[in-house]
Amino acid sequence: MAHQEYKRGTKLIHAGVEPDPTTGAIMTPIYQTSTYVQAAPGDHKGYEYARTQNPTRTALQNALAAIENGKHALCFGSGMAATDAIIRLLVPGDEVIVSNDLYGGTYRIFTKVFAVYGIKFHFIPMDNAANIEQYINDNTKLIWVETPTNPLLNVIDIEAVSNIAKKHGVKTVVDNTFASPYLQNPLDWGADIVMHSATKYLGGHSDVVHGCVIVKDDETEERLRFIQNSCGAVPGPHDCWLILRGIKTLHVRMDRHCENGEKVARFLKTHPKVEKVYWVGFEDHPNHDIAKKQMRGFGGMISFVLKDDNMEAAVNVLKSTKLFALAESLGGVESLIGHPASMTHGSIPREERIKNGLADSLIRLSVGIEDADDLIEDLRQAIG
Ligand SMILES: *Cc1c(COP(=O)(O)O)cnc(C)c1O
Repeated sequence: MAHQEYKRGTKLIHAGVEPDPTTGAIMTPIYQTSTYVQAAPGDHKGYEYARTQNPTRTALQNALAAIENGKHALCFGSGMAATDAIIRLLVPGDEVIVSNDLYGGTYRIFTKVFAVYGIKFHFIPMDNAANIEQYINDNTKLIWVETPTNPLLNVIDIEAVSNIAKKHGVKTVVDNTFASPYLQNPLDWGADIVMHSATKYLGGHSDVVHGCVIVKDDETEERLRFIQNSCGAVPGPHDCWLILRGIKTLHVRMDRHCENGEKVARFLKTHPKVEKVYWVGFEDHPNHDIAKKQMRGFGGMISFVLKDDNMEAAVNVLKSTKLFALAESLGGVESLIGHPASMTHGSIPREERIKNGLADSLIRLSVGIEDADDLIEDLRQAIG
């Protein structure tokens, strides 16, 4: 692919996008159509029906493949629809090994939707990749990795996991939502399949729900495309266009997310009322060396625990911020604050939650791209 020759910022703006062939429009049009006229049966321009193909989606898929250093990309109506399509590659009896600190919706689809179809999921800690091998057997087909993880910002060594998987003929999937393709490219470290909730950093403006899968090999692409077309969880052209536009500023936004993330993390670390701060960029993060190896920056996702470790103290902070908006989701230009214990992870029994390191007062931040001084001032007055 010609775009592989360009540097990352240039690729983000130009990859996959050609001027519109009929008008020369520099921006890919939103092809708001359900079907395409044929001159005679079978005599068409490569487009027959919009569940199967849409030119706006094609442009986005080409862009995504290029920026993840893959060969093929497939777009879906949400991140969960992308995950759903990947698991449909499996059959009853197959087994999946999954990192245990995981997006709640992924845990839910594995345990509540797919477990009843006879697919077995093993949730295990992967901060030490050597831990994985003992769970591999003849039925193991996939290893599912999320890194950095949500909300504890653990880091998993993609290269080490992929090497173990390859040795056993197992495929590695990486949920790359938190890092985005700008900070981390799992295919370069040996992963076979990358997925994103494009709702987050790729879209970047909290205005669209979208998902995608990127692969290198033709066979997996063909099987996923069959599933995409057969099951039909495709995004509309307008949503594809919003992601395509979001991607054009990914590098500029991510640079600022990283810069602001570092400033906020270092502020929190010295705050007298803060017990612990989770951020990938700290030199004393247990897997900082791996983060430095596989990531180009440390992002704007931060979690922290209060010294006064109870729900009420956390709720007081959540109610008091003026810039940080209390909301689920992440990765948008505006800063968000959330409370895993009562929001995203509220359905996990308290004892199990605490055992997994999710304290009552754990607060998660998606640091946006406002001025860092204002964000720090907002947290200072809210923590008190
Ligand atoms: C949000 C999210 C998902 C799910 O994506 P949707 O677009 O909300 O369906 C999957 N993985 C991670 C890490 C996420 O943050």
